[in-house]
Amino acid sequence: MRSIVIALLLTPSMVQGQNSDWTEPIEPFGIADDLHYVGTAGLSAYLLTSEEGHILIDAPLQENVPLVLDNIRELGFSPSDVRIQLTSHAHFDHVGGLADMIEATGADLVVSPRDAEYIQRGADFGLETAGYPSVAPARTISHLETVRLGGVELTAHLTPGHTPGCTTWSGSVEIAGEPYTFVSVCSLSVLSTYRIVGEEPTYAGQAEDYCRSVAHLRSLDPDIFLGAHGSWFGLEEKITALRAGDLRAFVASDRYGSYLDSAEERIEEVLAEQGHSGGCASLVQ
Ligand SMILES: [Zn+2]
Repeated sequence: MRSIVIALLLTPSMVQGQNSDWTEPIEPFGIADDLHYVGTAGLSAYLLTSEEGHILIDAPLQENVPLVLDNIRELGFSPSDVRIQLTSHAHFDHVGGLADMIEATGADLVVSPRDAEYIQRGADFGLETAGYPSVAPARTISHLETVRLGGVELTAHLTPGHTPGCTTWSGSVEIAGEPYTFVSVCSLSVLSTYRIVGEEPTYAGQAEDYCRSVAHLRSLDPDIFLGAHGSWFGLEEKITALRAGDLRAFVASDRYGSYLDSAEERIEEVLAEQGHSGGCASLVQ
């Protein structure tokens, strides 16, 4: 009985050890031409803008939706011009506000098939939480499929593990006339509620997925490293540098490789803890 009560009270914030900054407002800003940060201090939301409408990645906590909408307006854009809504993954800290956001923008929701199963039920993958308002996707996307709107082109990289349909997004942007690539990583963290190997994994093939996702992300070499939580890529210090006048504050991050290294290290630790020796090398080629 006691363990059931504890499981019901677990939230991603407790599992991931961060939450106080999830609702903390920060001034929205441009990362590059046509790529803007409109999330909170701890939960990312990215707005990609074009003459033909905009794309929004993630709609974090439901209570953050008014703040994200204000951020979009503050940058001089209209929420009703957001035509496409994308997501990183089916956990309430990234998709809890989807229903309210889509009601405000009228955007089409485009998600991976396996996360769609959770989002259309308003369910969190792998967590005994209350969930969030459900929303039906307009369509689903597959691995390496592109989403285009005006001059914006984003590629979906299905990087499952953290959720079965965890989606990393990549694209190209310009800063002062120079081209740069960016990647916004879904997540590679292993929540303490997960069993990734053994008799009853949180989902079949989860450990292999984590390992393949790390390998796939290593094949990318972004100039700009972004992700669903700013702490992964040093959001706070990059904002400070940007506000001090460094237009390329988000470029040439060496954090991408070290983020992948520590994520893989943690995955292998969990594999060992859960009784699988040999690490990723023994699971995937
Ligand atoms: Zn998550």
